Amino acid sequence: QVILGIETSCDETSVSVVVDGVTVLSNVISSQMEIHQAFGGVVPEVASRRHVERITLIIEQALLEANITKNQLTAIAVTQGPGLVGALLVGVTAAKALAYSVQIPLIPVHHIAGHIYANHLVSPLCFPLIALVVSGGHTELIFMKDHMNFERIGRTRDDAVGEAFDKVARLMNLPYPGGPHIDRLAAQGTPSYSLPRAWLEKESLDFSFSGLKSAVMQFIKQNERYSQKDLAASFQTAVLDVIVEKTFRAMAQKEVKNLVIAGGVAANSGLRTRLISRTKQENISLCIPPLELCTDNAAMIASAGYFLLKEEKKTDLELNAVANLQLI
Ligand code: ATP
Ligand code: MG
Ligand code: FE
Repeated sequence: QVILGIETSCDETSVSVVVDGVTVLSNVISSQMEIHQAFGGVVPEVASRRHVERITLIIEQALLEANITKNQLTAIAVTQGPGLVGALLVGVTAAKALAYSVQIPLIPVHHIAGHIYANHLVSPLCFPLIALVVSGGHTELIFMKDHMNFERIGRTRDDAVGEAFDKVARLMNLPYPGGPHIDRLAAQGTPSYSLPRAWLEKESLDFSFSGLKSAVMQFIKQNERYSQKDLAASFQTAVLDVIVEKTFRAMAQKEVKNLVIAGGVAANSGLRTRLISRTKQENISLCIPPLELCTDNAAMIASAGYFLLKEEKKTDLELNAVANLQLI
């Protein structure tokens, strides 16, 4: 089963060819990061226009690198949502055109299902599992009994964790996207400033990061001469304390021994280090995708698409992008 995946939900134009959901023949990722950096965030109109300019070329490049022709494809998988609607539409339209031209099935994929399936490209998913989803737009704990079976047991009540990293980085005058900069600074600092941790109700597996963000804002107002490294370390520690603790609470509650990580914040070195040591201690198997599979890419979409195709979850050419598509 040779599946071509297309991902255009935000600021990466990506096309990938994956065999049987595991073997990546090509994974072309064209990032618009530099274009948006000047604005300090993704500008939707600019993003769609850039996707339009790139998509045809990227599809050709992905086929070329995979060394196959479009007639050898089994199906096309495309991110249907959630994301920027104008950006999503470019991928959906390209996917429809390609599926129609070769007369093969079209499979709509939820972007977060894709992020979770990035793990399947590293080693086959073992069920039951908990997926910790930490990205620019999502912070969720998902329980999976089987393929494509999602139960959300925790979520953020306000900001997503990547969003919190980016907002705090902005307060500290760091470039966009701020996550990697905070990560780098935090590694050189000590978490010596006291910041709040939002545990919410006892037993709750939900998250909240807006209070922490406000606390950082207050701190910067009151301390003009602070150490960037120590503030980065203090902020990151406050975030990770809660995320790591709630993840293991979820594992215990569901009596699960397999943990997978998904989304751009999974690139965070502090998070990786802490999860590696704690899973070792507790005899839990951990999968963390390599950096290029943590952030947006089409290989993860093609992998998820393979399992949807198995379940006959195909669609027709009426397919539309859905900006706030729900996973469950
Ligand atoms: P979503 O997947 O929810 O639609 P998105 O696609 O924009 O959102 P991703 O591409 O998965 O999000 O991840 C981008 C986010 O990851 C940004 O907020 C970025 O700051 C954050 N990020 C990337 N690397 C790191 C890192 N090393 N430490 C912390 N955050 C990071
Ligand atoms: Mg992105
Ligand atoms: Fe994403």
